[in-house]
Amino acid sequence: MATSEEQPRNLSQYKRYRNADEGCKTFTSIDQNKVEASIERIYDRYEQLAALDPTLPKLHRTDHARYLQVALERLSSSYECLDSSRPWMVYWILNAASVLNLRFADELLNRVVDFLIKCRSPIGGFGGGPGQDPHLATTYAAVNALCIIGTDRALDAIDRTSLKQFLAAVRESNGAYRMHVGGELDVRGAYCAISSAKLASFTPEDELKLFQGTAAWIAECQTYEGGFGGAPDLEAHGGYSFCAAAALMILGGEERCDLHALLRWTVNRQMAYEGGFQGRTNKLVDGCYSFWQGALVPIVQSLIARKEHRQDILNVSLFNRLALQEYVLICCQKPTGGLIDKPGKPADLYHTCYTLSGLSVAQHCETHSLPLVLGDEQTNELLPTHPVHNIPPKAALDAYRYFLQLDQPASAAEGQQCNGKGQAAFKAAVPENGSEKLSSRSSEAGTSSSSSSSECTSTQPSEDQSMRS
Ligand SMILES: [Zn+2]
Repeated sequence: MATSEEQPRNLSQYKRYRNADEGCKTFTSIDQNKVEASIERIYDRYEQLAALDPTLPKLHRTDHARYLQVALERLSSSYECLDSSRPWMVYWILNAASVLNLRFADELLNRVVDFLIKCRSPIGGFGGGPGQDPHLATTYAAVNALCIIGTDRALDAIDRTSLKQFLAAVRESNGAYRMHVGGELDVRGAYCAISSAKLASFTPEDELKLFQGTAAWIAECQTYEGGFGGAPDLEAHGGYSFCAAAALMILGGEERCDLHALLRWTVNRQMAYEGGFQGRTNKLVDGCYSFWQGALVPIVQSLIARKEHRQDILNVSLFNRLALQEYVLICCQKPTGGLIDKPGKPADLYHTCYTLSGLSVAQHCETHSLPLVLGDEQTNELLPTHPVHNIPPKAALDAYRYFLQLDQPASAAEGQQCNGKGQAAFKAAVPENGSEKLSSRSSEAGTSSSSSSSECTSTQPSEDQSMRS
């Protein structure tokens, strides 16, 4: 339930926060006014309906589940242009299903593992499809997807030896990462590499070899606005800022960054009237930034807590979590299933994954108190997602432990569930007793929806789909 400080907005009153162009029209202000007008129609209609039906707004769980199930079985021809991003589509479907608490049949998941094995490259990493060159973005997506499936067979499909070789092949001598051999160099690369290496539990020696200098290079990507660009001297952007902060959460090195400037830039990307986030200054609201920017907030809070020894900063919500839920639930759901960028746009798997992931972050990122759910909890509450990796927290920890145990005698692995910075990554933005709180809450409430054995909850990129290869 919302606290007294956190109540759903009076949407009519919030009209005063609509864009004021002061009589000076620009392409940007005209586009902004058009989007606000379309959202105003939706919010007006919603207020009329909600006056008659107090159970609104509702998450269309069954429709989204059907949309994901159909897509995992067979994609429509409109996805042909994404033939080099097939592990991405698998990951988007699996993670969206995870937060909806939807588990696919074992036989179907086994076929997914078969498919991802075919995408694995003989020189390490995963390509966008069978026989394609390996790419860091599709490697990240495949590793995440296999961790979500979480069976021994799925985890064994991550060949750590050749993965290390691939990461070494795309690493530059200063610690920056190219997306593929001879490819573009940007902060997505560093994040995809460290996220995959962490889930696969690389040894501290391997991490040191692979990531020496990486945090310092990432720090160079912070701009005068506070956010991070894709590379030094580029514009601050939500996707790249997420990648930078999430990578630092795992790597350390936040002392090189102005975290308060990053926090200020991030929270100011939440749109005053729409309630969702924009990706860059003066851009339009977009559902996928519900995750890229929404998850960035608790990650930055955790970075500040670590750098300044300030646990108190974890006890407060620093963005309007109910306003974000209003935007996703009222403006971003297609009645036929799937979620969208903004009203008028078609549903796609990418936006379905990241709007739902953002909705989950909005509900669960305040880890010292009960989830904050807009509308009926039984209907609308999602399971938590790990803000750094964006997979279920338990899947992240299980994968990490699985690979750790492969390297060590059973007794040693038992006592060392997470080492060094990895522990911080897994505990990011979550109190030590996060899982107990979730469990006790679920038994009290008699609901299992958010009690998914998450032992660590909380803490990804660009227009939109810059993580795509
Ligand atoms: Zn988007």
